[in-house]
Amino acid sequence: MSDGAVLHVKGRVLVGPEDVRDELWVVGGRISLRRPARTGDVRTVEGWALPGLVDAHCHVGLDQHGAVDREVAEKQALTDRDAGTLLIRDAGSPSDTRWVDDREDLPKIIRAGRHIARTRRYIRNYAWEIEPGDLVAYVAREARRGDGWVKLVGDWIDRDLGDLSACWPREAVQAAIAEAHRLGARVTAHCFAEDSLRDLVEAGIDCVEHATGLTDDTIPLFAERGVAIVPTLVNIATFPRLAAGGEAKYPRWSAHMRRLHERRYDTVRAAYDAGIPVYVGTDAGGSLAHGLAAAEVAELVTAGIPPLRALAAATWAAREWLGRPGLEEGAPADLVVYEQDPRADVRVLAAPRRVVLNGRVVG
Ligand SMILES: [Zn+2]
Repeated sequence: MSDGAVLHVKGRVLVGPEDVRDELWVVGGRISLRRPARTGDVRTVEGWALPGLVDAHCHVGLDQHGAVDREVAEKQALTDRDAGTLLIRDAGSPSDTRWVDDREDLPKIIRAGRHIARTRRYIRNYAWEIEPGDLVAYVAREARRGDGWVKLVGDWIDRDLGDLSACWPREAVQAAIAEAHRLGARVTAHCFAEDSLRDLVEAGIDCVEHATGLTDDTIPLFAERGVAIVPTLVNIATFPRLAAGGEAKYPRWSAHMRRLHERRYDTVRAAYDAGIPVYVGTDAGGSLAHGLAAAEVAELVTAGIPPLRALAAATWAAREWLGRPGLEEGAPADLVVYEQDPRADVRVLAAPRRVVLNGRVVG
């Protein structure tokens, strides 16, 4: 807050899943867990406060046709912000959204550069489309462009086969992931089906998006290596529509998508039960609307994840995983205040009372 005013947040401040305080203060845009010596003008916000929500799979600067202009990207970011999403892991975008970093009124973005896909094996205009021999070079480039993440398209429909199939040979991803790690970046991959997962995990991948193809064979492997998943259940809900659209031309693919959809809740629940870290991501920005983090938390609860853990997957745990602070002394004051206790019913997240970003009440 540049005007020097002080914000007093009181009620129940959910600093951690087991750490609940009565109040916190915001001074100069930063959190103070103690009452400041001089307060002057104080604005009070009352309710249940959480760290700003995290959407760990979101695309800013992208729509169903590819890159969008700045005005549209700004609207996307504002929609997320007003829904309480104040930290985004951008899971791939063809447009340069660096300008967002200079805007105190927009959510913070952790970028994965641009998607890297196999030639003709992804949505048009989204990705660098390359062959395995170029993978290491492209991964190195996106690792340097991004904010600590690189995004691969791990599987997609193979039109000759008429079904989903893995996009990369094992040796290529192994070399590419090693290069990303050498450059200090983590790697994640889009995977719907079963057959790419083992290679990616054994090659050292850090996270898998969607992960609808997890089975009893691969779940223990993910758990043992601590590979996270971001299920994006609000996106998986569109599989039956996609399957219906592709039925005539690709019946095998269509049936496969339906099977993955039918078992989606069991898959996520089994992954959670095995100890795989699960985080909230919506996949907004492709064909999905922005601002759906609350709906995804509710979906994780439907899948059988306990409400407090589903909440953590969008707040405390997600921030720790991404290396960003929550409601800590001196941290930027990015928080959301609700009228009721979101631990009792996560649907409360759908309607924030107040959104505070960099110490300013923005919504
Ligand atoms: Zn995505």
